[in-house]
Amino acid sequence: MEPLTYRSLRALRDAVCSGEVSAREITRAHLDRIAEVEPAISALLAVTTDGALAQADAVDAARSRGEELGPLAGVPIALKDVISTRGVATTCGSRILAGWKPPYDATVTARLREAGAVMLGKANCDEFAMGSSTENSAYGPTRNPWNLDRVPGGSSGGSAAAVAAGEVAGSLGSDTGGSIRQPAALCGIVGLKPTYGRVSRFGLVAYASSLDQIGPMARSVEDAALLLEAICGVDLLDATSVDAPPFSAEAVKRGDIRGLRVGVPREFMGDGIDGAVAAAVRAAVEALCSMGATAEECSLPTARHSLATYYILAPAEASSNLARYDGVRFGLRSEGGSGHAGMTEASREAGFGAETKQRILVGTYALSAGYYDAYYLRAQKVRTLIRRDFDAAFERFDVLVTPTSPTVAFGIGEKSDDPLAMKLADVCTLPANMAGIPGVSIPCGMDQGLPIGLQIMGRSFDEENVLRAAYAYEQATRWHTHRPEVAR
Ligand code: GLN
Repeated sequence: MEPLTYRSLRALRDAVCSGEVSAREITRAHLDRIAEVEPAISALLAVTTDGALAQADAVDAARSRGEELGPLAGVPIALKDVISTRGVATTCGSRILAGWKPPYDATVTARLREAGAVMLGKANCDEFAMGSSTENSAYGPTRNPWNLDRVPGGSSGGSAAAVAAGEVAGSLGSDTGGSIRQPAALCGIVGLKPTYGRVSRFGLVAYASSLDQIGPMARSVEDAALLLEAICGVDLLDATSVDAPPFSAEAVKRGDIRGLRVGVPREFMGDGIDGAVAAAVRAAVEALCSMGATAEECSLPTARHSLATYYILAPAEASSNLARYDGVRFGLRSEGGSGHAGMTEASREAGFGAETKQRILVGTYALSAGYYDAYYLRAQKVRTLIRRDFDAAFERFDVLVTPTSPTVAFGIGEKSDDPLAMKLADVCTLPANMAGIPGVSIPCGMDQGLPIGLQIMGRSFDEENVLRAAYAYEQATRWHTHRPEVAR
């Protein structure tokens, strides 16, 4: 039997329901695990011991009263620190929100609690989710459990590392350009960016609102599907959430993938993709075919403009969203400047890190009167072209398969002085955000002792086919059962 800290969500819930272990014992085991590995990994910005034990006790009490338990009863989770938690500090990895305690829960926070999940802590991330390595956190970097000298990816690096290291059974991240899928790939776990609108963004601190989406991170496809089932669905508090046909985790495991049409876009397999990564993805395509899928090379000709388009649109939206941190309403207030404007300027100067400041400047420039047409408006048009490329591809294919990240985890500090190299970490993930479609990353191999991620994308609101393909592949290859050294 696996130790409690590496059991699946379903196994944990079943153990609680049957009385084999209490939710409190599960929580304790994970808190012990956190104490053991956290000094090396730094995945969590806050460990909410008291709140967790109270939530666990509530689950145990409900069981002893004979009540039916929620689908995630007793399951220990962590939330990326851009997700609001009532009364629990939510810093977004930024000094400007140090110690800020939201007066309300995000919808996903509330839904997980209703499902019986136990929140153990808040996970480290790049400041306001801007980055690909978690090195932009004002609270120091998180380390990759597979190799402590490597980054865990980002921006949801803490959420990924905590799951890989067995500190929690699952977590939530947010994905604007790859921030769930890329760290999942680099830490050897499963990470799903749902369709834009599938999960409520109410209470998610906004980075680029037309791209942001919350999604699950876990050690298996089934676990990720169960988390998605718990958090998805329309929400009156988020007008962009969609009343789509419900997502069923059970359906993911049903049936086989015979006849599934797999497209392999050639733009994602050439220049800039590491040889070992491309080889692992090719082998994965063959594995899918041996299970009855058919695969064919295809093309998404405008997808290569995603990076340039993203770095106009995302900073533009960020410059607007981050205007609210003015030293008055939230978090840090600097006494440095004189007068209201001076105070705001001094607070923003002291509160924001370098990457965030740069993006605010770029975004403000792209939106300014003289340049709006040349940059923002043009980027919006290119975004439409990218979406149309995907629409055309999905007339011929059910899913598209690519690498998640062009390389395995890179070294801490390796790309800090090379912003372009850092941004290229997201070339394969950004297009799905441009098109709003779902994409999952699952482990598909190892190189240099580090995990490789496979990305599977699908039609809007077709998480079921995406995860069905992922599940079939995972069960046939079992890469997801590999554990990092820190886990032994
Ligand atoms: N790495 C990308 C960026 O820096 C994407 C981040 C994200 O998805 N939140 O903006």
